[in-house]
Amino acid sequence: MTHTDMTPGQPPMTHAHRTGTPAHPRHTPSRPDRRRSAWSLSWLLVLGLAGMLAAGCGGSDQDTAEAGAIEPVPGIEERTVRVTATTNIIADLAEQVGGERVEVTALMGPGTDPHDYTARPSDINRLRAADLIAYGGHDLEGKMADLMGELSRVTPAIPLAEAVDQDRIISEDDGAADPHVWFDPELWAEAAAAIADALSELDPAHADTYATNLASTTAGIEQAAADARAELDAIPADRRLLVTSHDAFAYLARAFDLEVEPIQGISTVDEAAAADIERVAAALVARDIAAVFVESATPDQTMRAVIAAAAAQGHEVAVGGELFADAAGAAGTPEASWDGMLLHNARTIARGLG
Ligand SMILES: [Zn+2]
Repeated sequence: MTHTDMTPGQPPMTHAHRTGTPAHPRHTPSRPDRRRSAWSLSWLLVLGLAGMLAAGCGGSDQDTAEAGAIEPVPGIEERTVRVTATTNIIADLAEQVGGERVEVTALMGPGTDPHDYTARPSDINRLRAADLIAYGGHDLEGKMADLMGELSRVTPAIPLAEAVDQDRIISEDDGAADPHVWFDPELWAEAAAAIADALSELDPAHADTYATNLASTTAGIEQAAADARAELDAIPADRRLLVTSHDAFAYLARAFDLEVEPIQGISTVDEAAAADIERVAAALVARDIAAVFVESATPDQTMRAVIAAAAAQGHEVAVGGELFADAAGAAGTPEASWDGMLLHNARTIARGLG
């Protein structure tokens, strides 16, 4: 894949196994709120860029670059490449592909919800200092979308969900693209290739290193996917329904032959309605599912409400464990890596539903 494939287009939409239609449209971010935050961010950005240009440090060459083109950075082979990622899941991928050639910064740590995240001034500095920005795209960072659009005019920036095969992007009923592509191992390998391409273009002297790293990263993704599949395959056919707080696992479901019944849509920003609680509780009762799953970066109140609603119908449901959805685990734990996170999720789901 080359950078020319990264242009966001109108993807043909496909649907994952999802058991019901939500009672209200999912993922409709509040435009007025987003505009307000975007205004203040835009001003910070304008001031910041003015300062950067006045100081004569970087960026100006790329101002006039063709949209989407990534030019080699003179002298970059003499230093490490600075990559700023939004989530720690994306940072992990950039570290795998960049290896010793990169210095990766993640704006969001473990337990941070990207849908609801508002950039701080220090984040803007870290984004401005980057040679390459890697982010989720398809509105994963809903409150940073305008900021990313502005930054990508001066710094190479890859929206990973928009850099992969758009024919394989899952859409909601309202047409919104699902950004949680890291749970499809094949798409995540494509995202790795997009990062490798971008790094090779910025730092062509080390293209061979990135190619070697990409090969090992892809092999690691395939191995982790095989391990996860071995866990998930053990779940009996009639119990393969994954109930979670928000709709982060549709790609996992498609890749590993599960069904999902989330309470909230693909963004955590919208409130769950009473009808959503009833819909999910009804699915648990109808399918006789005994476990639901909470998420490390999403409050669990709505899940408690679902459990209570099922109990009111005489159906006992337990919390099967905590899944890593939109953020990987803490540094120093196995779940800090994509592989560890995927395997943790697979084991937790298999134990809860098996
Ligand atoms: Zn999410």
